[in-house]
Amino acid sequence: MDYYVLHDNLEKAKEHFKQVKPMMECFEKYFGAYPFWNDGYALVETPYLGMEHQSAIAYGNDYLPGYYGNTSFIDGLNFDFIIVHESGHEWWGNSITTNDIADMWVHEGFCTYSEVLYVECMYGYDAMLSYVNNQKRSVRNDKPVIGSYHVNAEGSSDMYNKGSLMLHTLRSLIEDDKLWFEMIKGIANDFKHETVDGQEIIHYINKKSGKDFTNFFNQYLKNKEIPVFQFHLHQEGRNITLLYRWEAISEFDMPILINTGSKDFWIYPNTEWKEQDLGGFDKHDFKVRDDLFFIDIKKQ
Ligand SMILES: [Zn+2]
Repeated sequence: MDYYVLHDNLEKAKEHFKQVKPMMECFEKYFGAYPFWNDGYALVETPYLGMEHQSAIAYGNDYLPGYYGNTSFIDGLNFDFIIVHESGHEWWGNSITTNDIADMWVHEGFCTYSEVLYVECMYGYDAMLSYVNNQKRSVRNDKPVIGSYHVNAEGSSDMYNKGSLMLHTLRSLIEDDKLWFEMIKGIANDFKHETVDGQEIIHYINKKSGKDFTNFFNQYLKNKEIPVFQFHLHQEGRNITLLYRWEAISEFDMPILINTGSKDFWIYPNTEWKEQDLGGFDKHDFKVRDDLFFIDIKKQ
């Protein structure tokens, strides 16, 4: 690991770059060995904020925490966002590169999710949950994440945060962290130093999980809106009935976790209204676990 810095910043850099090694250990734990071992890893101080050049990252965050000093962007934590994000690209973008930039969500979605895993590794699960939910603030739902193929056209900048939140949602749906982390590492290793289509990654996830997430990916990647969980609680005496549906693309049928005061449990909405008897509980305890899923909620 080599660092190229301006002479005047040498002492500052020696202190500031201490965060690089633990970060590398986290990334290697989740994604496997650093993919350019023979080339080495370098941070090169530049006037430009940050760019993920393979094995020579342009670093211009001025030895500040967060995004050039903005730590609300990283949920109030204290790491250097540019180091973490651009280093994540060594696996996601540099080692695995998409054939068409319309699929750039594979670079930016997985790389932005690598920040989330870095936070889990360094600060723990609860901090991770808070960090990934903080990413919701930057999603615009302006246009689909996948761009137009064969015409050099990226999709929405939502490929960063929506991409990350989509992967976080997928982890909840997989409901098996061992398998989830095997899959993430599997993608990083099985497609190492290759070019891919986004569809190959989706196919890989479907195959490894044994589930068909085609409609899920269509909703989050090909549609500009996120799914809206619509519900109504109907009370009769002590008994409460839940009426619910997805407002989403017509085939969307993602299960979701809800809570009525004790344990989370799954319900299975699709785009038609459904009814489910939930028994007796305090209406105010009803909660949709939207910290584990990226959705909107509309109470009728
Ligand atoms: Zn990036």
